[in-house]
Amino acid sequence: MTEPFDLKAHIRGIPDFPKPGILFYDISTLLRHGPAWRAAVAQLADAIRPYKPDILAGIESRGFLVAAPLALELGLGFVMIRKPGKLPGLTIGLNYALEYGTDRVEMQADAVPKGARVVVLDDLLATGGTMAASINLLRQAGAVVPCAAALIELSFLEGRKRLDVPVETLVRYE
Ligand code: 5GP
Repeated sequence: MTEPFDLKAHIRGIPDFPKPGILFYDISTLLRHGPAWRAAVAQLADAIRPYKPDILAGIESRGFLVAAPLALELGLGFVMIRKPGKLPGLTIGLNYALEYGTDRVEMQADAVPKGARVVVLDDLLATGGTMAASINLLRQAGAVVPCAAALIELSFLEGRKRLDVPVETLVRYE
C-alpha cells in the first residue's frame, strides 16, 4: 500500500473559471509538485489494480495526464478517448448531452481487442456525462469496463450515480 499523502493540499479551487459562478479545481499545482504527483499516481494504481485491467483509457485532455503515467506504473498500454476529428484512421464516436448542447467522444475502432478489460480515467468526475459516454464508447468497441477512476470527484453532483460500474476516486468535494 502507498503511504497516505494530503493530495487536497495540492489542488486549488479557482473561482469563476471558465465562467462566472464556476469553482474550477485546478490540478496544475498537483502536477508541478513531484512527490505529490508521484503519490497520486501510486494511490490510483493501488485503487485500480484489483480490477485487473488489460489496458487503460484516458479521456482528453487531462485524463491523458492521469492515464499515461498510470499505464507505465501498471505495465500496461493506454488508449486515447478524444474530442471529435483528432484521431487518424477508422474511428467510432458517441454523442452525449451537456447542460446546453451536445459533445462527442471518439476512439480508434481497433484500439482495444474484443473482451479486453479497460479501466477508464479522467482527472475529475463532475456530472458523470463525459465518463458515461466514454464507458459506452469503449463497450461499443468491444471492451469490458470493470471500473472508472478519477483523481477528483465532485460528490455533490452525484456523477457516480450515472455510471453502472464501480468508481474509484482519490479526492472528494462534498
Ligand atoms: P462531467 O462530464 O463529469 O460533468 O465533467 C467532467 C469533465 O469536465 C472532465 O473531463 C473534467 O476534466 C472536466 N471538468 C469539469 N469541471 C472541472 C474542474 O473543476 N476541474 C477540472 N480539472 N476539470 C473539470
